[in-house]
Amino acid sequence: MLPDCCYDYRYEAPIAKIFTTCDVCGESIFVGDSYYKIENLSICNDCINSFKEIAEEV
Ligand SMILES: [Zn+2]
Repeated sequence: MLPDCCYDYRYEAPIAKIFTTCDVCGESIFVGDSYYKIENLSICNDCINSFKEIAEEV
């Protein structure tokens, strides 16, 4: 561990700010992420994909 004076903060992982949480899976949605706002629900990308269906001939 380097002393504080020599520590290069550029290599720190940027601290992601949580914007809200997905109302379906409860995952954090971070500032800068895209998400879906449907009525009063916030839905993350992963969940919206699971809702997506392809209309197929049966
Ligand atoms: Zn989700």
